[in-house]
Amino acid sequence: MPNTKYIFVTGGVSSSLGKGIIAASLAKLLQSSGFSVTIQKLDPYINVDPGTLNPYEHGECYVTNDGAETDLDLGHYERFLNIPTSQANNVTTGRIYQTVINKERKGDYLGKTVQIIPHITNEIKRRIKILGETGDYDLVITEIGGTVGDIESLPYIEAVRQLKWDLGKEKVIVIHLTLIPYLAAAKELKTKPTQHSVKELMQSGISPDVLVCRTEHHIGKDIRKKLALFCSVDQESIIESIDAETIYDVPNLMLSEGLHKVVLDKLGLKAEEKPILTAWNQFLSNYKNPKNTVEIGLVGKYIELQDAYKSIFESLDHAGANNQIKVNIHPIHSEELKKSNVGEKLKGLDGLIVAPGFGDRGIEGKIEAVRYVRENNIPFLGICLGMQMAVIEVARNVLKLKNANSTEMNVSTPYPVIDIMEDQKMVTKKGGTMRLGAWDCELEKNSKAFDIYGTRLISERHRHRYEFNNDYLEKLKEVGLISTGFNPKTGLVEIVEIPSHPWFVGVQYHPEYKSTVLNPHPLFVAFVAACLENK
Ligand code: GLN
Repeated sequence: MPNTKYIFVTGGVSSSLGKGIIAASLAKLLQSSGFSVTIQKLDPYINVDPGTLNPYEHGECYVTNDGAETDLDLGHYERFLNIPTSQANNVTTGRIYQTVINKERKGDYLGKTVQIIPHITNEIKRRIKILGETGDYDLVITEIGGTVGDIESLPYIEAVRQLKWDLGKEKVIVIHLTLIPYLAAAKELKTKPTQHSVKELMQSGISPDVLVCRTEHHIGKDIRKKLALFCSVDQESIIESIDAETIYDVPNLMLSEGLHKVVLDKLGLKAEEKPILTAWNQFLSNYKNPKNTVEIGLVGKYIELQDAYKSIFESLDHAGANNQIKVNIHPIHSEELKKSNVGEKLKGLDGLIVAPGFGDRGIEGKIEAVRYVRENNIPFLGICLGMQMAVIEVARNVLKLKNANSTEMNVSTPYPVIDIMEDQKMVTKKGGTMRLGAWDCELEKNSKAFDIYGTRLISERHRHRYEFNNDYLEKLKEVGLISTGFNPKTGLVEIVEIPSHPWFVGVQYHPEYKSTVLNPHPLFVAFVAACLENK
């Protein structure tokens, strides 16, 4: 039986305090002290996974190697820890209930009344322990989505209470992330909301072991004393989390507050070494001391919400730091782009990304944007739908196939240059049925892609139903759009390029899901470098 210990992160007072970043930063510190750590997120909504959610509702849907459509916090976990997550790392209320109801129908509980306690809480506990029982981790950090006091979170909080009881104090601790608001008129930091939120947690039978306090101003000794007294937490376990310039500063902030020490102490663990953040700090130093700047446009239809393209933003930051280039990202709404204004709207950009997406809203604007950067020799990276738009643009404007389109947008297009994948034709259910997760891709030797990756066989993550139509492979090649990456088993096109253009690459997969702080993605690194060259 593995000796895994469990750390829970709950949130109080307000949403959006950054539980995911705190969990990832703590994990980073523990990982760099020699422990193997993973992070899991429990989400209290009823969707079985966030794959069916509009990005306006929930931000980006992140995809793991094993094809789980997950919460965007898993992206932070991978970017911070540099290790992959999996299906087991994100569980929703929908999935918990689905499992329990399926068991009930099978007759697994025959004769019994199926209830929240113990059946739902048991299933929650089972999902939490799955990661620990692999034996791969010394520590599992589980972030509980939502805010303490929400109706939806109650079964999770109850499961944590039970687990603390089942496994004992030295195996389970709870960190409560809370907000200490500053009242400008009174010029004071206020602890009352935290007191109430801890009280709420205590009513559910959990006394937090550590309080992490989000704040805009430093919290002094007095506040710490007061919090300790009212919340029954010892003073050294009150950790300040002050607003940071970048999320990548948070591990260092937590290091100086000693969060990892308090946690290890409470779990009765001794670190063999102090956290070593050399490579991390090298990244930060490059990130904060750029030698050059580039302006990159990101054309998408969800640009009002920055979280919708979270991994792309982060990947550009990683790639920028790697090149010591500051990347200024200019979100551009695809619905606002027309032939008449595209030159004006894209003026001054050193490079352009056309974002992934679904459905036909804004696609004509995306196609116009591709045309502009192709004709004006501006570096271009098309991701998933962005790659498909590049194929359509070349088909329409170079190959002169009038009304060429994807059958996603127009089922009766005369030239379906992008078409539904064969194995998607029979799919009727929406949830979890796309081509998902990591697939191999073989690169043509004579290509930009091969130069960038430096290897023939790569593996990248996917999330799509439509695909380059190989009937047009030769015709598009004749006009200069070549395919340079293929799935070795199915022959599906994964990469297109225009060799006569300084930097024009479209990828059917999502490189942004694989970029981490310590391993910036080669495609983004090469793209950002090309943008600087184009300046
Ligand atoms: N809508 C397109 C498809 O399903 C592209 C998906 C995406 O950009 N992730 O193929």
